[in-house]
Amino acid sequence: MDNLWVERDARAMARRYQGAGVNQDVALCVYGTRLLGSEPRLVQHGGGNTSVKTMMRDVTGADVEVLCVKGSGADMAVIEPHGLPAVRLAGLQALAGLPALSDEDMVNTQRCNLLDAAAPNPSVETLLHAFLPHKFITHTHANAVLALTDQPDGAEICAAVYGKRAALVPYLMPGFGLAKLAREVFETAPDCEGLILLKHGIFAFGATAREAYERMIALVDLAEHHLSRGRKRRPRAAAAPRRLAAVAEVAPILRGLVAEPAGEEGQWRRMVMVHRNGPAILDFIAGAEVRRYAFSGVVTPDHVIRTKSKPLLLPAPEAGALDDFRTQAEAALAAYTADYRAYFARQNAASLPPKTALDPLPRVMLVPGQGLYGFGKSARDAAIAADIAETAIAVIADAESIGRFESIAEADIFAVEYWSLEQAKLGKAAEKPLARQVVAITGGAGAIGVACARAFAAAGAEVALLDRDGAAVGKAAASVGGLGLACDVTKPKEVDAAFARIAETYGGLDILISNAGAAWSGRIGTVAESVLRESFELNFFAHQRVAQAALRLMLAQRTGGVLLFNTSKQAVNPGPDFGPYGLPKAATLFLSRQYALDHGADGIRSNAVNADRIRSGLLTDEMVTARARARKVSEKAYMAGNLLGREVTAADVAQAFLDLALARKTTAAVLTVDGGNIAAALR
Ligand code: ZN
Repeated sequence: MDNLWVERDARAMARRYQGAGVNQDVALCVYGTRLLGSEPRLVQHGGGNTSVKTMMRDVTGADVEVLCVKGSGADMAVIEPHGLPAVRLAGLQALAGLPALSDEDMVNTQRCNLLDAAAPNPSVETLLHAFLPHKFITHTHANAVLALTDQPDGAEICAAVYGKRAALVPYLMPGFGLAKLAREVFETAPDCEGLILLKHGIFAFGATAREAYERMIALVDLAEHHLSRGRKRRPRAAAAPRRLAAVAEVAPILRGLVAEPAGEEGQWRRMVMVHRNGPAILDFIAGAEVRRYAFSGVVTPDHVIRTKSKPLLLPAPEAGALDDFRTQAEAALAAYTADYRAYFARQNAASLPPKTALDPLPRVMLVPGQGLYGFGKSARDAAIAADIAETAIAVIADAESIGRFESIAEADIFAVEYWSLEQAKLGKAAEKPLARQVVAITGGAGAIGVACARAFAAAGAEVALLDRDGAAVGKAAASVGGLGLACDVTKPKEVDAAFARIAETYGGLDILISNAGAAWSGRIGTVAESVLRESFELNFFAHQRVAQAALRLMLAQRTGGVLLFNTSKQAVNPGPDFGPYGLPKAATLFLSRQYALDHGADGIRSNAVNADRIRSGLLTDEMVTARARARKVSEKAYMAGNLLGREVTAADVAQAFLDLALARKTTAAVLTVDGGNIAAALR
């Protein structure tokens, strides 16, 4: 583990913050915290914490001693001074004399002693920082340290590695009890540089921010050296998986399996998926003893809120035998959820007060030959679960390389999983209407595509944009944190590849906005057949092609879905010389109805938007081809007045798609967005 402290940078940061009124102790603590937080082998997503004891002036002008400690769940890598709320130290230290303290009283006392009443909740490990005497304290769940302590003889190994440099604290869940225990252990070894919290992590402390940081690095480095000396060859499994199905085929099956019926009939509480397949992951899953070490429990307690204590292990999916795989996966999932419910019942029987069960679904699945699948309520959450699972795999592999991985006891896992202060880290904000759903938008780089991307992202959906302009679609996708795919929808191979990427990235698809189009014109009596065919290729067949690709994913998920088509007023109200455009659009309007008819029983709705007279947006979007540019009708004709006399924009069209996506009882409908055009009204 490299020491990355650069004194010049630390001083520069302190000077910068000084200008903003931040005291130097806090600024240097921020510098060290970010260094630690930026190293994934030390800290993962909201884990770890740091503190500094310093003086601050309160509102009366009195100087008070405070503990500035990381806010609960905050990300160390990007922490700012306000992420280290200041708590009156005397108020915290006064608690040390109590024989016991409830979590509620602990949190309340911490909040009551904040200098700023609006500050975030201090870390659940605040009292541990307060009860130790050192000015600067750092705490991480360093992988190498966990690999040493997560052993049946972890205490002996750590004693041999650390000697007097670090004292050993037996496992206890975080909170008041652990804070008192850590201080007792420290008092038996007052010259130590840090504490090893068995099966949890490591503390290091110092008189300066630099000393506390450097001791953390040095102590972790000792663990890494011990591991590299002791590492023996990892045993590999004998049986290699057979010819495997593609990830893009397996992903929607798995995503569908973990969707739960919710609310009204046909409503689902879905999850978003992420797939990882590095060599360390594949080796781990291929290990002959994977059932033992993968199911032993978490590598550090707070991981349990992200990954549960066990992954779901599935069989290798054979190519061409996906029905068999689905049956096997269903059975494995049923066994997993039954096992989780039994664990809950067993542990809850001894729990006072009784807890409410969390959902029994896995957040991590392991598939031989394919890697790991992480699940969460958003792509971000799924990625966090996968990151933590990858960390666990690294720690367990190292632990197994020097001995045998062992986690905390089941009762201890339950205590942390159902600890209100851990669950609070996940947040309970109300979810947006399209949270947990994935939308694909063709014509994604055009004005309507971009407006749809914004509207659907704002409604909580994960967004994939497809457009033949790869650079533009990449930019558009980046602006909403989505996936941008270069794809010409008139090319079957490109469509298949794009939808495979969507499945690999998010696990599947719930909503399609088939929006790509372009205008061709010509008097119908004389227009060349090739012009008609070209227009049909994009304005009809491409819609059918992407709808089929979307449908395949939706049917594999078995959780319904929504197909939305951008037809045009041309579909019902032809304009002169615009037959080559209107004819395929009319066919696409009927295509939308055919999907509604044929796949309503699958829970799939199909609707269309009839947009017209969009201010410049639709024209630039639809008239992208050179051919169209040469023949396009004047913009003026499109922008002529409408009944409401209101300007219609791409954002209005996007809102219509969003309304249809949310209209759970509406299918085979056409929605006009034209400010009123009685000649185009459906009759
Ligand atoms: Zn911790």
